[in-house]
Amino acid sequence: MTTKRCISCGMPMEKKEDFAMGDPERDYCLYCARPDGSMRSYDEALVGMTGFLVRSQGLDETAAKETARQMMAGLPAWKGR
Ligand SMILES: [Zn+2]
Repeated sequence: MTTKRCISCGMPMEKKEDFAMGDPERDYCLYCARPDGSMRSYDEALVGMTGFLVRSQGLDETAAKETARQMMAGLPAWKGR
């Protein structure tokens, strides 16, 4: 099985548990799923990724948001945004 990448955040999904709802047929990961299993919107994903960058890279909010925007622009779910 080839590693799928989340179309929303780019995370490699290697295990069943990495997928939304533990379902390998999904194209997005557990972090990009709402509790009901649907995919989060662009704005929700942007907030999530901004927070992740602040915590993991120590960026300030403004820089993190800009970086998150650029990263998401290259992902299949958000191409053309
Ligand atoms: Zn994801």
